[in-house]
Amino acid sequence: MSSSRTLLERTVNTLGHCDAAEYAGAGEQEALTKEVIDVAVIGGGVCGLAVILQLIERVKDERKEGKKQSIGSIYIIEKGGVIGTGLAYSEACTGSIIDTHASTMGPCPINPMKFVGWLQDNNPELRKVHFPTRSEYGRYLRELLKEAIVDAKALNIDFRTIHGNVINATRQNQTTEVVLADGRKLHALNVVCPWPVEKFGVIEHEAPVFIMGSRLTAIDVANALVEHGHTGKIYMISRSRRLPKVQGPPAEYPYRYQLHSLAREVEDRPVSAWIRIACEFEDEMEDYSDADFSELTRDVDPLQMLKADIAEAEKGPIRWQVVLNAMKALVERYWSVLTLDEKTQFLKENGSKWMTYRHAIPLENARKILAGLEKGQLVVLQGENVKWSGDSFNLKSNGKEYRVKYLIESLGQEYDTTHIDSPLLQSMLKSRQLAHNPLGGVDVDFNTLKATEGLYVIGSLTKGVHFYTSAIDRNVAHAARVADNIVGLPFRRPLHVALFVGTDLFSNLMVSRLVPELLGQGHLPFLILPADLIHVYPTKEPYKLAELTFWERDVLQKVVISFLGSSQVSSEFATVEQLKEKYAIMVDRIENISSPHCHSILKDNYIDLGINLRSYQEFDHVIRDHFQPRGRAIVNLEAGFLPTLRAMMNGKVAATYTLHYIDDEDSDGGIIDVQTLAIDHSQHMLWNVQNNYGKGVEMVMAAVEKLARFGSLPAGDGVSMCSSDFLTKEDLDICVETGILLEGRDRSKVKKLLVDCFSGDRKKELGAAIEVAELAWYDM
Ligand SMILES: Cc1cc2nc3c(=O)[nH]c(=O)nc-3n(C[C@H](O)[C@H](O)[C@H](O)COP(=O)(O)OP(=O)(O)OC[C@H]3O[C@@H](n4cnc5c(N)ncnc54)[C@H](O)[C@@H]3O)c2cc1C
Repeated sequence: MSSSRTLLERTVNTLGHCDAAEYAGAGEQEALTKEVIDVAVIGGGVCGLAVILQLIERVKDERKEGKKQSIGSIYIIEKGGVIGTGLAYSEACTGSIIDTHASTMGPCPINPMKFVGWLQDNNPELRKVHFPTRSEYGRYLRELLKEAIVDAKALNIDFRTIHGNVINATRQNQTTEVVLADGRKLHALNVVCPWPVEKFGVIEHEAPVFIMGSRLTAIDVANALVEHGHTGKIYMISRSRRLPKVQGPPAEYPYRYQLHSLAREVEDRPVSAWIRIACEFEDEMEDYSDADFSELTRDVDPLQMLKADIAEAEKGPIRWQVVLNAMKALVERYWSVLTLDEKTQFLKENGSKWMTYRHAIPLENARKILAGLEKGQLVVLQGENVKWSGDSFNLKSNGKEYRVKYLIESLGQEYDTTHIDSPLLQSMLKSRQLAHNPLGGVDVDFNTLKATEGLYVIGSLTKGVHFYTSAIDRNVAHAARVADNIVGLPFRRPLHVALFVGTDLFSNLMVSRLVPELLGQGHLPFLILPADLIHVYPTKEPYKLAELTFWERDVLQKVVISFLGSSQVSSEFATVEQLKEKYAIMVDRIENISSPHCHSILKDNYIDLGINLRSYQEFDHVIRDHFQPRGRAIVNLEAGFLPTLRAMMNGKVAATYTLHYIDDEDSDGGIIDVQTLAIDHSQHMLWNVQNNYGKGVEMVMAAVEKLARFGSLPAGDGVSMCSSDFLTKEDLDICVETGILLEGRDRSKVKKLLVDCFSGDRKKELGAAIEVAELAWYDM
């Protein structure tokens, strides 16, 4: 223990400078413990770091929930200089920019915007830069490692960073023996491996160079060469002579849910999945984009094509890209249901086209490549058979012969395990702890990334299983699954969750928090907004009830929502229209919930969980039957203003929030979860609801988590009556007498709440709009 503490302190200090040499020195001499450690992570790239961050999060959750801590020790072993960055984001990558939008590079699945937030906080100059340099991202990763070290210390996790090259890992009984090239060994319960990397050497500036490949890696290499002063000719060589397409600005695909429903459909019925996926993909493309893919069958001039692609990207979001981006997290699910033949055929016939379109060049990089092509320094050649003649690399392309001294292999990562020069990988294949996947990399379980007991593989070596592995957002999602499995949590199935949302303010505030939380955990929310049938008051009688309805519902529905529309403001909460626009989720306002239209929404979109948030229409038997099969449920949440007001009227010290099944047409059913929330009678009702309604969000998320991980919710206990009644006039008279109506006769607080929650930088205008509506209502 004492040695681990010494190392920890030294590591924190050393990381302050994050100098590669110094860092290497910190770990190199360190003797390894003889005790069995819980997790050994081999490789300090993004995947290794992401697994560690996720494990730390799991331990934090265990602490919060009062559970026994499952992880006491984590070692990360890296053969290179710096831990946390891997090859792609080292300090050497100063000029190269990241290839994907910064908003996809957060290392936390729940909050992919974390990197963007860090950029804004740490580097004001980069506030509006969506493609910062790779070294900047590396700086961020090193910061995260520092945080992980501090967090681990606070959690009493023995976390060590070890410098060394792992050459073998062998399962022995319950543990894996990890052997380093210098003879050091350790034993771990769980081992996580990434992929091996290689670097290329130094090249004379004026010498002509072949770059094998013309995809993103090759583009990066060409730009990096020029950036570092290369003046000689650069020949990019590829079979197709095509450059990747150019990235337009990101946008959300409004029909994203159809792609998710397609994943569910083919997972449910994998027979002929390929045909259904291809047809749906074609339909989505045809309906939404006016893309012309005919160029795929033509021979195109790279320079002219790139010019046209840049011009297109400069115009704004490119619709076919918007569809493809929306598929990013789903592709692995489509892939998993195809047969080996279908997968092989796809790779043969469409693999290269897919890469051209899917991995598009950032505009900034595309402009640099165009400049190189126009200057004639860069040339894209058709060919593949480069031959080494003893003193030069030679290629024949379109009848011309090219000879150069240097060749840079930039075909991307190597997935064929027989070609990967890694003693670790080869020894594990030989000892059959790992098995080749015929489509690349090694076999792992799709959900858990487990290769064998106690051994996990993450990153490009899982390409055959996951298809799409070379993007941070996928790496991070996979790291979360590895961490889950290590700490014994079942796989979290992505759910389709329908929120039946009432018109009241607090349910809408809850929805505004639930939508990003659900999405962050990989679920897909659908907002169904049934028409409000019981709160329509044609006159102001009874006056107090109508007044309450005006403040609690109408101002939001008739003023705030219509005032803001779908425009995005930087407010804490969003209206349903803004949520629809921001997250591209389905939002459907329906007159009658028991209609064929609503039934088909549930059926066509494979809705697993229905949650009623104060919508007061009846759920007919067709809806209830939809949620009968195992793995589905429909529940009602009694939370917010009604239970709070009732508790206050009855002089209770606590309000009761209840989550219960919907078993009959009155929405009554067995109780799943009850929470009591303290009430402060010295405060007005609004204050109490505001203080407590977040608990409703937690109750919903806890139920979602249970259904997603365990396939069912707890059996209902007793029966809860759904309070579909609104308050009576008598109820309200009591409230008025005791001064607990809303904020106690002072309307300014509810106005402030609405403005504070929704207006962002449009405070004054929204406040004025509410005042106009208020005057009109009280004048009537
Ligand atoms: C040039 C480049 C640019 C990219 N740009 C983007 C981008 O803009 N956006 C995006 O989303 N994705 C991008 N990617 C993909 C993404 O960066 C990778 O998917 C991710 O970095 C892979 O992380 P990793 O930990 O698996 O591998 P790496 O980052 O390579 O880390 C593996 C680490 O393991 C170590 N290691 C290997 N074998 C051993 C061993 N036997 N013993 C000890 N240590 C070992 C290596 O030294 C290395 O540090 C890019 C990839 C590359 C290569």
